[in-house]
Amino acid sequence: MRKSKGKLFVFSAPSGSGKTTIVHHLLAQNELDLEFSISATSRQKRGSEKEGKDYYFISPKVFKKYIDNDGFLEWEEVYKDNFYGTLKSEVDRIWALGKHAIFDIDVFGGMRIKSKFPKNTLAVFVQPPSIEVMEKRLRNRKTDTEEKIKERVLKAERELKFAQDFDVVLVNDNLEKAKKEAYDLVKKFIEN
Ligand code: 5GP
Repeated sequence: MRKSKGKLFVFSAPSGSGKTTIVHHLLAQNELDLEFSISATSRQKRGSEKEGKDYYFISPKVFKKYIDNDGFLEWEEVYKDNFYGTLKSEVDRIWALGKHAIFDIDVFGGMRIKSKFPKNTLAVFVQPPSIEVMEKRLRNRKTDTEEKIKERVLKAERELKFAQDFDVVLVNDNLEKAKKEAYDLVKKFIEN
């Protein structure tokens, strides 16, 4: 097992940018030794999501308890009344496995992780080709109501302004190309 701490790979982007697909692709490359950082959330489970795999689904009350006990590395009320956060214990779990942590989190959470571990974190901003493409992807996903899609689009417009604060901006206009670029970035950061 690795004695020193592992690295942290933050993939942040507006939802509908394709970042989740990129993160899953990286996780499938065993030689990278990546482990997904499972976030805690107070939102309802969607579709085929599984407890302890996609998220730790907890009640708003339990979420607030973790906040009070300083249990989070970062947390956000990403959408109204929907809280999301990275538990400190989650990163410890991953490092104890001797692996590197990979995060699929929002832009503000991503910047917070980077500020807590500036040297060991590679923060990647996945940029959709345009807001219109992103909106279309969200509609095709068919998991959100029209109101939720509107909320996500508004949030995306806000988030795009923060791209420059990340180490790298990865424009996802071609998924295969974006996957390859993401792989090369991660590999290089691990080796350095
Ligand atoms: P979704 O509801 O689509 O699963 O996620 C909504 C947003 O919350 C996405 O942008 C996702 O990346 C973000 N998110 C997921 N987990 C966390 C987390 O632990 N912290 C923060 N700040 N954002 C998160």
